[in-house]
Amino acid sequence: MTTLFKNVTAVLMDGADTVLPGAYVAVEGGRISSVGAVRPQGPFDREIDGAGCVLMPGLVNAHTHVPMTAMRGYGDGNNLQDWLHNYIFPVEAKWDDRAIRSCAALGLAEMIAAGTTCIADMYMHTGAIAQEVAAAGISANLSVGGVYFGAPEDFSPDACGDCANQRRLTEEWHGYNNGQILVDASIHGEYTSSAPLWQWMADYAHEKGLGLHIHVSETQAEHAECIARHGKTPVQILDEYGVWDGRAIAAHCVYTTPEDWAIMAAKGVSAIHNPVSNLKLGSGVAPVPAMLRAGVNVALGTDGVSSNNNHDLFEELKFAAVLHNGVARDPLALLPADALRLATVNGGRALGRRTGRIEAGYDADLILVDFSHLNLTPCHSVISNLAYAAHGGDVVMNMARGQVIYQDGEFFTIDIERVKREVADYALPRLFGNQ
Ligand SMILES: [Zn+2]
Repeated sequence: MTTLFKNVTAVLMDGADTVLPGAYVAVEGGRISSVGAVRPQGPFDREIDGAGCVLMPGLVNAHTHVPMTAMRGYGDGNNLQDWLHNYIFPVEAKWDDRAIRSCAALGLAEMIAAGTTCIADMYMHTGAIAQEVAAAGISANLSVGGVYFGAPEDFSPDACGDCANQRRLTEEWHGYNNGQILVDASIHGEYTSSAPLWQWMADYAHEKGLGLHIHVSETQAEHAECIARHGKTPVQILDEYGVWDGRAIAAHCVYTTPEDWAIMAAKGVSAIHNPVSNLKLGSGVAPVPAMLRAGVNVALGTDGVSSNNNHDLFEELKFAAVLHNGVARDPLALLPADALRLATVNGGRALGRRTGRIEAGYDADLILVDFSHLNLTPCHSVISNLAYAAHGGDVVMNMARGQVIYQDGEFFTIDIERVKREVADYALPRLFGNQ
C-alpha cells in the first residue's frame, strides 16, 4: 500500500524545526518513503489532500496507564494517600481481563482521536492491553510495573509474581508485528520494591535486549524516604544495580538532582515529564529546562487518566510550554518548538523507535491537524499554534504505521460503540458496582 499526502504544510521535527509548505509526503507500507516540495514519482494507491491542514508526526505518550481511563474523576478531591488507598487500589483489585480490554480500548480511542500514534504503558493484565493495542494499530512499549513487597532475603524469581508476568509478556508480545509492540522490563518504583527485584529486572532487560520503564522521584516524600533508606536518591541507588545500563525511561523525575541528571545523560536515560498529573496531585514541577541543559532526553506523558483527567497530549504540551516559563519567570525557558519536541522526536528516542519525525525511513506515524478551526485562525506561526493554541479535537486524521486508523471522527480499527457498551454494561458495574 502506498499513500501520498499532498497540499499540506508539513512540520518535520527535524533538527532545524523545518515547516515545509506545499509538501508531499509519501508512505510505503509502514514507513515514510519520501518528503519534499516536489511531487514524487507515482502512481500511489491512495492520495490524501490535506489542504488547510498541517501534517506532523503523531504524538508519543511516553508514560501512561491506559486502562485507568475507567477511573476518570473517581475519588478526585482527596489527598494522595486517601485517593490511592480508599479509591484506586480497591477498584484495581477488581480488574479482570475483559474489563481491562474494554477500558484500554476506550483510552486508546481517546488517544487516537487526539493524535497519539505511540505510547509507553505500564499496567497489570498487560497481555489484555497488548491485544487491544495490536487491534487498534498504534505502536506501544508495554510493561507490567513490577512490584516486590517481600523481605529481600526471601526473593526468588520463581515465586515473584511480576517476574513471571514479565517473562510471559516478553515471550508472548515482544517484537509483535514487526515491532508494533515492544515489551519493556519494568520496576514500578524504588518504593514498591527492593534490590533483588531491581537486579533481576536489570539482568533480564540486558539478557533479552529490552528497555526499562520505572517511576522515579515523583513526590518529595518518595524521594526523601529513599535517601533515608539508602543514603542515595532513587536514580543513584538504582544505578548501582545496573537499572540504567540499557535504554530506560524514568517517569516524573520531579525531585531529581544535578547529580542524577549527570547519570541520566551519561547513560541515555530519558525523563518523562507529566506536568498535568504532577500539578493535579500536588507533586511539584519537574526541572525540565535544567534537565535539557544537562543533556537529558525529556519526553512527555499524560500519566493515567485518573490523575490527568484526559489523554490530550496537545493539552499536555501546552502545559509544559507555559509552566516552565512561569516557574523560571522567563518566557524563553521552554520555547514552543522545545515543547513540540518533547511530544514527538524526544518521545521516539525515549522509546527506542524511529517515530516522531517526518523523514524517509521513519515509521509512518502521521497526523493531520485542521488549521481552518477557529482556535488556529489566524496563523502567524505554525509551531506556536501547535504548541499554544491546538487541542486534540483539531486532529482530523491519524495514520499509525502506514494505516489510517481514524479520520473525521470515524475509527477504522476500534468498534467504538461496542467498546462504550462494554465499558458501561460490564467494566463499570464490575469495578464500581458494590461501592
Ligand atoms: Zn505513572
